Amino acid sequence: MTMTGSEIRESFLRFFEGKGHTRVASSSLVPKDDPTLLFTNSGMVQFKNCFLGLEDRGYRRAVSSQKSVRAGGKHNDLENVGVTARHHTFFEMLGNFSFGDYFKKEAIAWAWEYLTEVLKLPKERLWITIFRDDDEAFRIWLAMGVQEERIVRMGEKSNFWMMGETGPCGPCSEILYDQGVETGCGKPDCSVHCDCDRHLEIWNLVFTQFDRDASGKLTPLPKPNIDTGMGLERLAAVIQGVRSNYDTDLFTPIIRFIEKISGRTYGRSAEEDVSIRVIADHSRSVTFLIGDGVLPSNEGRGYVLRRILRRAARHGKLLGMNRPFLNEVSGVVIDQMKGAYPDLSERAAFIQKVVVNEEERFIDTLDAGLKILQEEVAALGKAGGKTVPGEIVFKLYDTFGFPTDLTADIVRKDGLTLDMEGFEKAMDAQREKARESWKGSGEEAISEIYHRLSIEGIATQFAGYEGRTTGKSVVTAILKGGHLVEQIGEGDEAEVIVAETPFYGEIGGQVGDTGGILSDGQAVFKVTDTKRPLDNLIAHVGRLQSGNLRKGDAVGLRVDDESRRATEANHSATHLLQAALKRVLGEHVKQSGSLVNGERLRFDFTHFSRIEEAQLLEVETLANRMIRANVPVETRVLPLAEAVKTGATAVFDEKYGESVRVVQMGEFSKELCGGTHVRRTGDIGLLKIVHESAVAAGVRRIEALTGGGAVVHVQRLEGELRGTAGLLKIGPLETADRTEKLLRRERELEREIEALKGKLAAKDSGDLMTRVRQVKGVDVLATLVEASDVKTLRDFGDKLRDRIRSGIILLGGRAEGKAMLLCLVTKDLTGRYHAGKIIQAIAPVVGGSGGGRPEMAQAGGPQPEHLEEALAKLPELL
Ligand SMILES: [Zn+2]
Ligand SMILES: [Zn+2]
Repeated sequence: MTMTGSEIRESFLRFFEGKGHTRVASSSLVPKDDPTLLFTNSGMVQFKNCFLGLEDRGYRRAVSSQKSVRAGGKHNDLENVGVTARHHTFFEMLGNFSFGDYFKKEAIAWAWEYLTEVLKLPKERLWITIFRDDDEAFRIWLAMGVQEERIVRMGEKSNFWMMGETGPCGPCSEILYDQGVETGCGKPDCSVHCDCDRHLEIWNLVFTQFDRDASGKLTPLPKPNIDTGMGLERLAAVIQGVRSNYDTDLFTPIIRFIEKISGRTYGRSAEEDVSIRVIADHSRSVTFLIGDGVLPSNEGRGYVLRRILRRAARHGKLLGMNRPFLNEVSGVVIDQMKGAYPDLSERAAFIQKVVVNEEERFIDTLDAGLKILQEEVAALGKAGGKTVPGEIVFKLYDTFGFPTDLTADIVRKDGLTLDMEGFEKAMDAQREKARESWKGSGEEAISEIYHRLSIEGIATQFAGYEGRTTGKSVVTAILKGGHLVEQIGEGDEAEVIVAETPFYGEIGGQVGDTGGILSDGQAVFKVTDTKRPLDNLIAHVGRLQSGNLRKGDAVGLRVDDESRRATEANHSATHLLQAALKRVLGEHVKQSGSLVNGERLRFDFTHFSRIEEAQLLEVETLANRMIRANVPVETRVLPLAEAVKTGATAVFDEKYGESVRVVQMGEFSKELCGGTHVRRTGDIGLLKIVHESAVAAGVRRIEALTGGGAVVHVQRLEGELRGTAGLLKIGPLETADRTEKLLRRERELEREIEALKGKLAAKDSGDLMTRVRQVKGVDVLATLVEASDVKTLRDFGDKLRDRIRSGIILLGGRAEGKAMLLCLVTKDLTGRYHAGKIIQAIAPVVGGSGGGRPEMAQAGGPQPEHLEEALAKLPELL
């Protein structure tokens, strides 16, 4: 009986647990504190600081199955995924890790034992590569009983690993599986060096044993590390004896489902197979990315997600599916993976809702975009062009939501490429426009220095709960310009760290406190912000106003009371707001961001449609009812598992420690939260929602005020209303009615004016008919009229032509200091006279030019003082 993918995953984790490894859950696909990396793409990402000796997690051996995403970049173009047997955007990486504990000998021995004894892979199928100079690895592999000729020495490119230009690095050893001669290229010299699919790399063991300096010199590390990685999908293909990863049981249930909903059969048509594989692969990354809090957008991670999702949606269309379907495929992925990744079932409804929402948005524009693209392709085909212009690519991107690789995908079969340079140009132009509103991800790498302090045992206890705003402590570290110093003097900007503080360090949306730190030696440090670089480290940021402050000084701390109270009111109000939103809009409401300071609160949450005004009022009313109920705000510290059992709301994708605080307000609201809060809900005073808007696909934002700020806001609104009512001489509550009436009256008056103007023109034209002269048997009317714009002039012209029946009309008018001329020739005379030519001859008199059709033409010029002269020219011209 062959093992399933899940069984392989579990057997790997269990095997290394048996070797003293701690089983560590997969970290999020969104790397924490690493802005250089778009997505977690290997098992070692979450252990980076352990490898660098900057973090101690209490274990030295770890094993994990890490969810990973690679999408885009040089080595994993989206366009290969679905075409080949082994490219994926999402995959699982099995790995075992040693942080300065065991090394090469154990790593090799256990890898060999796992493959040959647990999985029982035939030894004669396995090949080993090692780094050219790594004799140590060579001897260990020999000792495992591997034949000498099966251990192949390779160069730096494939078998030497570096984290960056400098820093930890070391040789690697890869284990390859020979799938048999019939699977390869068939060349006589086919070997592990060959690029064909026969020798499959299944496991990479990295021996991090050197530190590399800028000159390239390698110094042995005192405590070398082990970092290994084995793709589960490949391994499953080997164990299950199938040629493609897509034929393993990790994919077959998804593929069966796609067959079912599309009515196609996998394996019948090469073209359709690509589409089916694309959907199968992409639905996995889409599901896991959204599960980890990434939402479709036009920037950064959200854009990668959007590209993947839309590519899958388009391939669904190629299979004849013209409705949203990916959410259903996503459901299959969730069912299949929730055993190994339990978070998925909890977020299932949310994930599927985001998927269907994005799909609907895209389907709306897909057809229109495809049509434009087809027209372009046809035009290029006729002209023999090979490149789709950058502006078209940009238009498709900007207006129709076509990611560029999707456009490239579509035109590839016609042998066309994209003008990416032109696209970038158009993009740059737009970016320039949007620069004002652009904001970065806001993430910063956590400076190493804080990790160092933490390892030296420096930590801060937060003692500002229960309304405490003062305390006494001792200075344990001072940072100036990012460096540790022993003391600071007057005027120095610095970060002061103490053993215990009532200052709240910014985290979870609540801003850091401000206030002052005083030493016995009369030093006064003004705190302008408080940060929390690590969970257990709080840094007071500010400036020493007088005296000297030294490490070891005893100090008194005082938080600015007023702003803390206001912040607390706003923070507690967000809890009431979230609870009220859940009641009014539904349980799908989840916090996706918040900002709380002394002035206001901002709360972002998931919701998929506009919020009706009545719903917003209901939310506000509910929250204020809870404020008036004045229930105590109770906090308890519980182990995480127990807290979750109480049904407390956890923030989406927030990382929690072993024990957590549960903040409860009656039966109305219960949330996991580390922030500071009012003592009773009544302290909030009043909650007033001031703004509601959309911030991203499926995310809404509410901004609100509380307490004194809310009262001032209401007073200002009322002031405005009273002012308006005063002008109208009515009561404030009648303004809407009255304004509506006034607007209606205004529209009526406008219509009346229009009608009067028309009548006036008709009367004028009647008077003007008396000026008709005969020239060569033709009725000619050349005259000035009162017309303030071209339209009025034309109205005149139309009316006069109706009256004259047969003849030539030349009208002159003044508008904004310029001359206008209009010439009309009735139909019966156009054989003899041409209005366009007449106007061409006359316009120069007013310093202008013009032209037009035989029966009508117009002109303008800068010299209205010559209008009479111009009109007089008509008879002689004829
Ligand atoms: Zn080959
Ligand atoms: Zn909170």
